[in-house]
Amino acid sequence: MTAYDNISVEEYAGGVTVIDADFHREHMAGCYLVEAGSEVAFIEVGTNSSTPRLMKVMEARGWKPEDVSHVIVTHVHLDHAGGAGSLMQLLPEATLLAHPYGARHMIDPARLEAGARGVYGDEMFDRVYGQLIPVDESRVRIMEDGDELTLGNRQLHFIDTPGHARHHFCVHDSLTNGWFTGDTFGLSYREFDTEKGAFLFPTTTPVQFDPEPLKQSVRRLVANEPDCMYLTHYGRVKDVQRLAKKMIEGVDKLAGFGEKYNDSPSRTQKIEAAMTEWLMGGLRDHGVKLTDEECLHLLRADVKLNTAGIEFWLDHRKP
Ligand SMILES: [Zn+2]
Repeated sequence: MTAYDNISVEEYAGGVTVIDADFHREHMAGCYLVEAGSEVAFIEVGTNSSTPRLMKVMEARGWKPEDVSHVIVTHVHLDHAGGAGSLMQLLPEATLLAHPYGARHMIDPARLEAGARGVYGDEMFDRVYGQLIPVDESRVRIMEDGDELTLGNRQLHFIDTPGHARHHFCVHDSLTNGWFTGDTFGLSYREFDTEKGAFLFPTTTPVQFDPEPLKQSVRRLVANEPDCMYLTHYGRVKDVQRLAKKMIEGVDKLAGFGEKYNDSPSRTQKIEAAMTEWLMGGLRDHGVKLTDEECLHLLRADVKLNTAGIEFWLDHRKP
């Protein structure tokens, strides 16, 4: 890892750099700077508090704001797209690329904000996300399933990947044969790396988690035998076929906890406890040497959000 003014960044092969988004803790959420010869783009923008860091790293690497041609958000959850408006204000030539179901929320973030206030509460929303800034409609381009974009020295290929959210696409980079996966390929925190490689588990955040489409999206991502995945949470992972298997097993496992405890009067606590036990067991099998306390600290927020997403799915799925 290198650092610009204490901003953690890691540069991978092929001009892909992950920049820490400053979300809750270091190395929880990242944004990617993709340097492509004559062009440069951001994939994921984090929240409003990420914006100054993205600008600083981009400029430290010798680019000017007007050099940024594209800003891409995999989906409109706020840890991925909450800073889109504030960043676009500083990038006069950039076009924002968004999913067909996400674009309208970038143009008018009112409903997005109301939804997030419902999930997180007003106090946390104001503290973490701040004011969502609309992006002018003329600067937003919808990317449909199968669409392509030439970015300097590479082709980007967009596919629709429902399951984590219906407004989610993933982006394949021809130069590095890697996918920018947003949240479709789960979470993999670098603190859990061991000699066995990366530890990965699904994110089932409210309100559109749906296990079958999510597994189908994962299968679609690995069908073209990618060399790596660029996760928003957090960084590049390799060994993608092993991780895809873990991801699919994990989706079944988490949905299964939901089914098992659906009728329990203490459903939330039961699902959280089962998920925590399963994750902790997985970490030990993986050879993670952190203490229980350290592991729980890294997992706690995801267990809460994942459980909320599973419960929402249980209560709203079609019979
Ligand atoms: Zn996320």
